[in-house]
Amino acid sequence: MNAYSGKNAVITGGGSGIGFATAKLLVDAGARVVITGRSQATLDAARQRLGTNATAVRGDVSSLGDLDVLAARVRDELGTVDALFVNAGITSAMPFESMTEEVYDQSFAINVKGAFFTVQKLAPLLSTGAGVVLTTSVANVMGMLETSVYAAGKAALRSMARSLSRELLPRGVRVNAISPGPVDTGILESSMPQEAAERFKAARVAENPMRRFGTPEEIARAVAFLAFDATYTTGAELVVDGGVTQL
Ligand code: NAD
Repeated sequence: MNAYSGKNAVITGGGSGIGFATAKLLVDAGARVVITGRSQATLDAARQRLGTNATAVRGDVSSLGDLDVLAARVRDELGTVDALFVNAGITSAMPFESMTEEVYDQSFAINVKGAFFTVQKLAPLLSTGAGVVLTTSVANVMGMLETSVYAAGKAALRSMARSLSRELLPRGVRVNAISPGPVDTGILESSMPQEAAERFKAARVAENPMRRFGTPEEIARAVAFLAFDATYTTGAELVVDGGVTQL
């Protein structure tokens, strides 16, 4: 099936997890995709699995210089962009009392500043009718333990989905947010000891009405819907969470 043949997409953090699953869905459906990330090895492996319709560009979304390089490469490779999935992010699970300035700043630099300037730098390349999808999290509407900084950053993105949609509407560009519930991608293990990650994950499964994690592919399908098919939807947040914020 080539539902997205002729379409161009950019996915930050597209080398792993939800971003990779989305890249795979889009490439399999005929799109050309540029993925970004910080690890060259991860990007190389992803690019190999995705094939020749994917290009990998290494860069840090918290660096405006790197975002300029990304925009230039995207212009060269794709020309225009029909779908921008602003997905790169890190967790910073930590009790409020032990949060440090360094972790706080890094979380906001990547999850909030990085997302904002990704949209700003790539906006000139967005085609009429393009869809931007910001990645929030169910944490942005829940009072979960050890997520105060991460959740606040994701709530900022929820707000930006509304204000950026207003600013980009005259250009025919829609901006929406995808709000994943727990998805087992390894993101937790990258920010906390294995034992703490296991505890955190067990709590997420226990509280979830579906008693399981979502898969990256389940999120990817919702991202593709928002990016391409939700042509009468802007400023919205689509929650894909097994019902944990709804039931
Ligand atoms: P992941 O760790 O597999 O993906 C995150 C990606 O972002 C990685 O490829 C990483 O290289 C990239 N990245 C991190 N910092 C970066 C930076 N400074 N510059 C460029 N790239 C950077 O984890 P994931 O679960 O697929 O996460 C994707 C998004 O989904 C994140 O924004 C995360 O907050 C959000 N999210 C995840 C879950 C979950 O349970 N997994 C739930 C809600 C929201």
